[in-house]
Amino acid sequence: MSERPSPTIEDYLGVIYTLLRDSQPVYGRRLAEWMEVSPPTVTATLQRMVRDGWVLMGQDKTVRLTEEGSVAAASVVRRHMLTELLLARVLNVPWSEVHGEADRLEHGLSSETASRVAELLDGAFADGTVACPHGNPLPGQEARVGASRPLTEVSPGREYVLLRIHEEAERDSATLALLEAQHLLPGARLTVLGLEPPSGSGLIAVLVGGERVVLEGAVARCLWLQDPE
Ligand SMILES: [Zn+2]
Repeated sequence: MSERPSPTIEDYLGVIYTLLRDSQPVYGRRLAEWMEVSPPTVTATLQRMVRDGWVLMGQDKTVRLTEEGSVAAASVVRRHMLTELLLARVLNVPWSEVHGEADRLEHGLSSETASRVAELLDGAFADGTVACPHGNPLPGQEARVGASRPLTEVSPGREYVLLRIHEEAERDSATLALLEAQHLLPGARLTVLGLEPPSGSGLIAVLVGGERVVLEGAVARCLWLQDPE
């Protein structure tokens, strides 16, 4: 039985799990970009993860999780989301800060305490909670959260429900605070107006609560809208 992975490996497992969940290819450069570390650092860490049996590397350099890696990754993501729910619902930590606080808290806990917290939260949130405070599905609850796609991939002119603020945006609490101020929270209804200006500068205009908001492409990419039925 392998030991609990180190905090660094847990971070990688969480990011890899999230990309695979959303059917996005996982390769070193993508991880470097998301985690804001250098490509050589990612390569070295991935080599260790292959050696320790967490991931497999394909001929084409794409990364997959081993069975053991999948179990560990789902547990990391679950623990993170439950901690976020605890901070948001019980401790009233502001929405834009729960992710960062959860990150610091979860790595500081011993695995025994972490599993006690998880047990406690499993009970407390067994009330049909299917998503973290950002709308992202708890592992195993993907089907109940439902299908969604990035705002940058939907056609303009229709109203959508904002289902998820993708994990990639969560590390940036300034962006989250801005989204909160613009009422762009899970459950918000918005209409995609189109590129702003139409010639294309990477900015996208949306209408939310009757108000016109212009988003940067990198932010818009992290807003996942519910697929219309
Ligand atoms: Zn979250």
